Amino acid sequence: MIGFEYARASNIADAVSLMAASPGAKFIAGGTNLVDLMKMHVEQPAKLIDLSKLPLDKVEETAGGGLRIGALVRNTDLAYHPLVERHYPMLSSAIMAGASQQLRNMASVGGNLLQRTRCAYFYDLATACNKREPGAGCAAIGGHNRMNAILGTSDACIAVHPSDMCVALAVLEATVHATGPRGDRAIALSDFHRLPGDTPQREANLEDSELITAVELPPQGFAHNYTYIKIRDRLSYAFALVSVAVGIELDGGTIKQARFALGGVAHKPWRNAAAEAALVGQPASAAAFAQTADILLSEAKGFGHNTFKIDLARRAVVRALTQAARGTPQSQSDKKIA
Ligand SMILES: Cc1cc2nc3c(=O)[nH]c(=O)nc-3n(C[C@H](O)[C@H](O)[C@H](O)COP(=O)(O)OP(=O)(O)OC[C@H]3O[C@@H](n4cnc5c(N)ncnc54)[C@H](O)[C@@H]3O)c2cc1C
Ligand code: SF4
Repeated sequence: MIGFEYARASNIADAVSLMAASPGAKFIAGGTNLVDLMKMHVEQPAKLIDLSKLPLDKVEETAGGGLRIGALVRNTDLAYHPLVERHYPMLSSAIMAGASQQLRNMASVGGNLLQRTRCAYFYDLATACNKREPGAGCAAIGGHNRMNAILGTSDACIAVHPSDMCVALAVLEATVHATGPRGDRAIALSDFHRLPGDTPQREANLEDSELITAVELPPQGFAHNYTYIKIRDRLSYAFALVSVAVGIELDGGTIKQARFALGGVAHKPWRNAAAEAALVGQPASAAAFAQTADILLSEAKGFGHNTFKIDLARRAVVRALTQAARGTPQSQSDKKIA
């Protein structure tokens, strides 16, 4: 471990001013991602600003009927919160599909949003990685890229965002609230994470000095017709090869509204407006689901080891839409798998 300074922020304004006055500093919440990256020398912050004492650990109903979730709410507390279980069970399921019980007990909402990719080369200082060292090249293109992206890639980077929680937040159309030296702002979840382009080192549309304060959910939670499917190498404690979150609103057997997002396939949770629109007014049928999956995957591109993900994603989308339409979410059982 390389030496670093440490300061504990006493309130939100203190956190922002400590950060503004400390070039090269990083916020630390649960530390489950950042400390690993520091131990491996992938990240070398000059100073850690500890957020653990900030009053950002509440889940509160909003006047508009939604929920405001503090950035320091632990993943476990959020997944088991009665309002989340009742109104946003897709979010609960997605969180419980991630990591392990011990990690979820430590991991925060803000840290989950900003967790970094699990691309093996990003962690291996002996290999070229544009995300770790801009301009160095990308060892994953042409390398072992089984876990890497098939959508929204660039010549500079084919990494994926590894979060489960964020895939559900994409379907729920959450808003991220942040504050910084220039004041408060709200960022739609769809605009929060970035595609790699030629700046893969920038993963979110957030300035280094900005603090995430909360995530807000609108009232619509798809509590009747939803699912979260995660396909991975082990049943538990593994990142997604492909995951799918779905929320459907039905009118009899006809689809009134459908939203779905893929995880494990792109640098951000992946939604496709054309694929969702194609389902509106259709019967909830295998044929309609297969057609929309084809639209969703039409621009997918494999890189050798990960090409299998294209078919896997197509089948996962059809299965997830089927489960959601039937009101039989597979992910209910995930809660029993610690
Ligand atoms: C072995 C292992 C397996 C895992 N498996 C999964 C999985 O299957 N699915 C999954 O989704 N996740 C998985 N994770 C990742 C885990 O969910 C994240 O590590 C966790 O959510 C990060 O939260 P944290 O509070 O510990 O973040 P930290 O490590 O404290 O911080 C992460 C980043 O966020 C920044 N940050 C934190 N809070 C804020 C804030 N409020 N404002 C601005 N910046 C902030 C930090 O500066 C840092 O850059 C796994 C992790 C491990 C170690
Ligand atoms: S895919 Fe991205 S994170 Fe992985 S080696 Fe290439 S540049 Fe680095």
